[in-house]
Amino acid sequence: MALQFPAGLTRRGFALAQELRASGFDVILSGDPCYGACDLALDTLEVADVLVHFGHAPVGPHERVIHEPVSMDFDPGMVREALPLLRGPRIGIVTTVQHVHLLEAVADELRRAGFDPVVAGGSGRTPHPGQVLGCSFRAARETGADEILYVGTGLFHPLGVQMATRARVVALDPFTGQATEVSAERFLRQRFGLIERARTAERIGVIVSAKSGQRRLDLARRLAGLSGRAILVMMREVTPEALLDLGCNAYVNTACPRLAYDDQARFPVPVLTPAEFEILLGIRSWEDYVADEWGEG
Ligand code: SF4
Repeated sequence: MALQFPAGLTRRGFALAQELRASGFDVILSGDPCYGACDLALDTLEVADVLVHFGHAPVGPHERVIHEPVSMDFDPGMVREALPLLRGPRIGIVTTVQHVHLLEAVADELRRAGFDPVVAGGSGRTPHPGQVLGCSFRAARETGADEILYVGTGLFHPLGVQMATRARVVALDPFTGQATEVSAERFLRQRFGLIERARTAERIGVIVSAKSGQRRLDLARRLAGLSGRAILVMMREVTPEALLDLGCNAYVNTACPRLAYDDQARFPVPVLTPAEFEILLGIRSWEDYVADEWGEG
């Protein structure tokens, strides 16, 4: 059997592999970086009967792949720290996969405090109720709420929730209890600046991912067809070095949306989202800006 762990948990893999081997299994560990279930180590199936992927819910069906959740507990009572920032009464609640098991307990806390929490059902790429991914904020949108509570760490997901819903978003770090109202305004100003920087680009690479769960080939082909300056580029790992080597003055990213949004500071030239490229070409207005999501755009 092959084992695949997400970045940050890989070190756990060695001990588990040893345990399984002691129990009689023939084990191989995937050593490539992995950030989501969009990036299954399917090549290990050439040498193993089954791949056990830890920490992410499936984003699509695959034979011989077992998804093993890795849950992270926190005290649902932590939601009290966010109460002063919430207006309510109706509040959509979302989180990432490792905390979905506690979302109902968070909802109960909110009810006790007099709010009306809403959790959207799971489907497609986000199969758990209330689950969001960096490439899918459907569960936030489908609450239909004007106010969303994001429970989790970091600012990337709550920023995405705000761009995707235009709702008021409060982010609660369930470990530190720190609650913040999130505004995407400054972030969007930076994105606007990148579009302007890309305007004079003579060579534009439209990136399509070689990873099956990140591949949006139809979208990438459509975008590349919109401009004589654009060429389709297939890549597995989108790194600053690889972009520098290709020598384009700007890129359009159709692989993992986090690459454009989260990693721009590492890249040597502007890396635009599909909607940003359409804005650059004048076929979409800035007012119609949409967050880059799987299946949208
Ligand atoms: S495409 Fe990006 S955001 Fe979506 S599941 Fe994969 S790593 Fe996560």
